[in-house]
Amino acid sequence: MAELKNQMEELVLEAIDEYLRDRSEICDCEKCRLDMAALALNELPPRYAVTERGKVFAKISQLECQFETDILMAVIRAVEKVGNNPRH
Ligand SMILES: [Zn+2]
Repeated sequence: MAELKNQMEELVLEAIDEYLRDRSEICDCEKCRLDMAALALNELPPRYAVTERGKVFAKISQLECQFETDILMAVIRAVEKVGNNPRH
């Protein structure tokens, strides 16, 4: 079974987890993390790929530096925004 996947989702969630690791004062419950992910993903271009269901897709480590910076900046903005104003 193949499925359509926005690889940006995984990159953003990963970046959020990494960033939150150093920010223990910010809530990292699932609701907040998903709020942060939604905010960041709305700022970033989607990156769709067809993947085999159940298969771990190859990590996009070949992403250009600029792209990584964009992700990080969007994630930081989203984390600070939700962290200052959690909706849970
Ligand atoms: Zn929370």
